[in-house]
Amino acid sequence: MGKPVKQCGISSSRPGKEALFALPKDFKNALSNCRTQAEKDPAKDVTYLWIAVSGESFGRAGQEKGGPAALSVEDWLNVVDESASLGANWVVFTLTTRLSQFSEIWTICQWAQDTHGMTVGLHLGVDEVTEEDMQHLLSLNLDKLRLLVRSESIEKLAFLESRGVTLWTANPQPNGAKPNCQGPARMIYVNAEGNLYTCGLVEGKSDYLMGSVLHDRLKHVMKSSRVKHCVEEDLHRVAPACDGCPALIANYFSTNL
Ligand code: SF4
Repeated sequence: MGKPVKQCGISSSRPGKEALFALPKDFKNALSNCRTQAEKDPAKDVTYLWIAVSGESFGRAGQEKGGPAALSVEDWLNVVDESASLGANWVVFTLTTRLSQFSEIWTICQWAQDTHGMTVGLHLGVDEVTEEDMQHLLSLNLDKLRLLVRSESIEKLAFLESRGVTLWTANPQPNGAKPNCQGPARMIYVNAEGNLYTCGLVEGKSDYLMGSVLHDRLKHVMKSSRVKHCVEEDLHRVAPACDGCPALIANYFSTNL
């Protein structure tokens, strides 16, 4: 399968590298805490790639909505390639809305499975799967596919299992608990605009911005001592932003990985 042709331009509104170089004292202390924590539990290779998908994730979709062009499918495939080269064997896509709104997602899922042998998690923000979605799902390697939905939606979508699709709970832990997760050190988290954050829980917090897939090499970001590879203790509680996190889910479904 060849990579699709690049489809669109790139937004110029993303934070650049310079945002990473101002290191106030508090932030330095936080980095130091994270580093101490990481030294106690040294990060192994990257294992997980987690991508948040919204209407702005793909250039065409963003432009149709009158917003800036975001990453092209080609850009996302490059993210998958680079993550796989670092060891990622799992990719989870967290979709903010209906699966059917993201036709590009199937190309990326298939590429991850066929080219890199990755297991794909589709984390549905809306618990609806149309017959058309179903046909796309069935065209993937079902042994390497997991559908992740919140626990209250499992019953509604249980029929998918009779068609061979494995359903997992996207929120295996109650909110407010300390996450029983593997932490973000082995995970690459990319938001819909291509910005890299320590993990989903801290997306949007400037202290946890690690860079951009458009400007930075993932291997440099993941090894950089200038960015946080863990979440500070005071924030480290399960929240809806942890839903679908592969570093969390892996601890609950490891026998099936
Ligand atoms: S998103 Fe939540 S569960 Fe995942 S690594 Fe971050 S704190 Fe842990």
